[in-house]
Amino acid sequence: MPHPLTPEPLLSGAVTSLRGEVSVPGDKSISHRALILGSQNVGQTVIHGLLEGEDVLGTAAALRALGTSITREASGEWRVQGVGTGGFSEPNGVLDMGNSGTGVRLMMGLVATHPFTTFFTGDGSLRGRPMRRVMGPLEEMGARFVARRNDYLPLAVIGADMPMPIRYTLPVASAQVKTAILLAGLNTPGETTITEPERSRDHTERMFAHYGIPLRVEDGDKGARVLTLTGQPEVHHPHIEIHVPGDPSSAAFLAVAALITPDSKVILRNVCMNPLRTGLYDTLREMGADMWLENERENAGEPVADLVVRSSKLKGVDVPAERAPSMIDEYPILSVAAACAKGVTTMRGLKELKVKESNRLAAIADGLIANGISAEMGDDSLTVTGCKGKPQGGGVVKTHLDHRIAMSFLVLGMASKETVRVDDGSAIATSFPEFISIMNRLGANITSLAPARTGRSTAIASAPASRAPMVIAIDGPAASGKGTLARRLAEHFDLSYLDTGSLYRAVGLRLVYADKDPNDKKAAIEAACAIDDEDLSNPRLRQERVGEAASIVSAIPEVRAILLDFQREFAKRPGGAVLDGRDIGTVVCPDADLKLYITADLDARADRRHRELEGQGITVVHESVLTDLQERDERDSKRKFAPLKPAPDAIHIDTTNLSAQAVFEKVLGIIEATKAA
Ligand code: C5P
Repeated sequence: MPHPLTPEPLLSGAVTSLRGEVSVPGDKSISHRALILGSQNVGQTVIHGLLEGEDVLGTAAALRALGTSITREASGEWRVQGVGTGGFSEPNGVLDMGNSGTGVRLMMGLVATHPFTTFFTGDGSLRGRPMRRVMGPLEEMGARFVARRNDYLPLAVIGADMPMPIRYTLPVASAQVKTAILLAGLNTPGETTITEPERSRDHTERMFAHYGIPLRVEDGDKGARVLTLTGQPEVHHPHIEIHVPGDPSSAAFLAVAALITPDSKVILRNVCMNPLRTGLYDTLREMGADMWLENERENAGEPVADLVVRSSKLKGVDVPAERAPSMIDEYPILSVAAACAKGVTTMRGLKELKVKESNRLAAIADGLIANGISAEMGDDSLTVTGCKGKPQGGGVVKTHLDHRIAMSFLVLGMASKETVRVDDGSAIATSFPEFISIMNRLGANITSLAPARTGRSTAIASAPASRAPMVIAIDGPAASGKGTLARRLAEHFDLSYLDTGSLYRAVGLRLVYADKDPNDKKAAIEAACAIDDEDLSNPRLRQERVGEAASIVSAIPEVRAILLDFQREFAKRPGGAVLDGRDIGTVVCPDADLKLYITADLDARADRRHRELEGQGITVVHESVLTDLQERDERDSKRKFAPLKPAPDAIHIDTTNLSAQAVFEKVLGIIEATKAA
């Protein structure tokens, strides 16, 4: 899909918990139909929760051009004053349906049985899509078409003066073609009969029922369905209301996010639970999802419920090809759930995903592999081996302007050890513009690297492209590799470097060597006031007992306050600075140009610290190094003031399996990519 927007690289970091209640955007298919059937009603339709995306707005504009009065009362609240079946008048301009394939096909059906000519066009992408499948049956009903290359937009529909009812068997199941014929049948005398070989989405049938339009639905041979519409019905409701159910495909991203992140509980209000749309939810339940429905009801003929989702341990499953039609859009997000599950998930019947605007199947597999997840693409299948917990993450995902790929991998980032980056999330606006704000409200860490357009907080603020970021803030637990990284970055970009831990160590050192208790607040404050440059280069600073004392004094707020000014002044050095510690991104330099949060498994950190000490000729038991780190982690992250925690917009890097060089290169890559963006 061509896109007018500039690329918007996005980062999604690990979350500790997602909690809250949200309403997801209205369903697009139902929104189109609500407006269209509103136009066929003699009376007023009030629509709540209409999806106000470009496609739906295009349908509203087309209906207005045909004589319907449509007004927007408030966000999502629309009022339609319909003209009744056969009540349209000829539009005096060309109807531009933008990018909406559904919009143009449905509107072609609607005008095909009106005795006038309507001109349609669309954007470059829509003009490249064939319209023959709807033109064929509409010609049988008496309409004529003049189309570019016989099949493409721009085209003119010369509506039938005397429409004829038809019996039509759909060559392949298609909700769009079916609906176009049914809408044409509304202004056709007699019975229009459609046989569909397999079931396609039935939002039109349900909306017809909501308006009391006589449509008979019967079972045919071999699973086929036969629909019989009695034309020119009285659709006369002086006042009718439609509450558009939330889009289950949009809800899917939120549901999977809650399932795979720890300590999460999210309530998704008003989600459409039409069984032809909920294959994903069936699959997630088979995977062991802790998820249930509350407040089940019916809206506009559709089953609707509130969906409650909690963190769950998922297991891999086999998803049969038969389920593909009811979840064809949901495979990207299902793959993310599969990546976090225990065992293998095989998804079959996915050929259609190879011929979307982009090869969506390949995009999913590439994105998973870039984030350390094993994924294998078959001819029409995808197999994902889950990592039974946190995927590695840290990859860059190419979205090919596919909004579902973008959202899915942002969700993956929430559950991964390392921040996941998507190269361009601008397409998200086409289906779910509030995605990032809703997710962040629930507790996610999604940040944009395109500051100018979004105005959202950024991980790397607008450093001029010509130079490196000025202030780099690095936080993380002891022995995570942050000091090494900080030194290398300082050297590479010629920035001043401050190891802020050495300030706390200097305070600890003074107390240890004066034989004072580091818990003695008064003594600690005095020591903090007294430290000087010499303390900072004292070789004893790295001793374990000094580190231990540092960790204790660092919990004293007065000590922190005394050291804060010095750190902030340091960060203002003209050539720029790198600071590492525990609270640099959160307290010392919350406006830093780049914030990194560096972690590693406890075992890996203990190994590193043990090797470091042995290298210094100090013999210690590995076990005691480990317990010491554990205690320090606990103290640093539990203390009341400036505890160790990632800044919301920090980029997370897990160094457990990475060499110092690999970590350094990764960060250079992030800085480069940001400059390029
Ligand atoms: O990083 P390092 O191990 O040298 O830090 C020593 C101690 O100082 C840490 O255990 C931590 O408790 C404390 N510290 C801090 N805030 C910082 C840096 C270090 O609380 N910004």
